[in-house]
Amino acid sequence: MPPMEPTGRYARQERLAQIGPEGQAALGRATAAVVGLGALGSTAADLLARAGVGRLLLFDRDVVELHNLQRQSLYDEEDARRGRPKADAARARLERVNSSIRIEARALDLCAENAEAELAGAELYLDGTDNFATRYLLNDLAVLRGRPYVYAGVVGTYGLSGAVLPGGPCLRCTWPEPPPPSETPTCRSAGVLGPAVAATAALAAGEALKILSGHMEAVFPGFRYLDLWTGEHRALRARRDPDCPCCARGEHPWLEGRRGARRAEPLCGGDAVQLPAAGPPPDLEALARRLEGTVGELERQPGWLRFREGGLELLLFADGRALVRGTEDPGRARALRDRTVGA
Ligand SMILES: [Zn+2]
Repeated sequence: MPPMEPTGRYARQERLAQIGPEGQAALGRATAAVVGLGALGSTAADLLARAGVGRLLLFDRDVVELHNLQRQSLYDEEDARRGRPKADAARARLERVNSSIRIEARALDLCAENAEAELAGAELYLDGTDNFATRYLLNDLAVLRGRPYVYAGVVGTYGLSGAVLPGGPCLRCTWPEPPPPSETPTCRSAGVLGPAVAATAALAAGEALKILSGHMEAVFPGFRYLDLWTGEHRALRARRDPDCPCCARGEHPWLEGRRGARRAEPLCGGDAVQLPAAGPPPDLEALARRLEGTVGELERQPGWLRFREGGLELLLFADGRALVRGTEDPGRARALRDRTVGA
């Protein structure tokens, strides 16, 4: 008898010696969360759905806009015209891609108050976020719960990806503190090349598939950097910091809400949202220089900075607090703050 040829939907993947029928079955039993459904999250969620990860939990707080379509592969012009929440549009698209898996999507702002409950069923967290507050929150939760966390970040023509494994070095072993917002280029200020996002998301999804198919030993022990324009490719081995505030000393300030994304509050009177400071006080002068020419009606005064963007007005105070006018949706307000000012 010749060896049996797999003919099903996952035949080419089961054919891989590294995965095989056992690995495929493990993927089918797995639950993975994709946090953030922009370009990274779109590509990664699409790869995981097609690979047959049995249950996907999808999170995003924003709506589809026309300028997303250059790189966010789950959405189309109709989604942008309707201003559809990305969580809904992503679920609808992925259900058409693979109807044999379970997809749960939530249009919410993942923050200290809800992260633990929302991610309770996930065996792995995949990073599709655009801000360091949520990344450090995911790192806190991953270390506390002993879950793998796959990091991914892209700006301009380069990206960085890597996995944090239970018992291994965490994000803060390598980067104890998030970079200050005034020194962090964003996709808005620096632009972003679609293939750079796709490549970085593919690296992240690859690590996720190794973990979920039961091959933790194959995961690269650190971070990989790739610049699609220059061709530069670097691998950074991560080392456990015996004095790491998170995985050694057991501090989880983002998860406890002492730092980063606390819940944003709609202001009474309506049509405005107040966002608490996301970190140390910003350097308003440096931010103003960086935002110049990329936003409308930029105004810098002692103690505050104001500009308009996408029909909304953002007022940033010297203590880091922000007021967003033109919406009552905290997620939309936070998304504007993160993609312009940074988290
Ligand atoms: Zn650590």
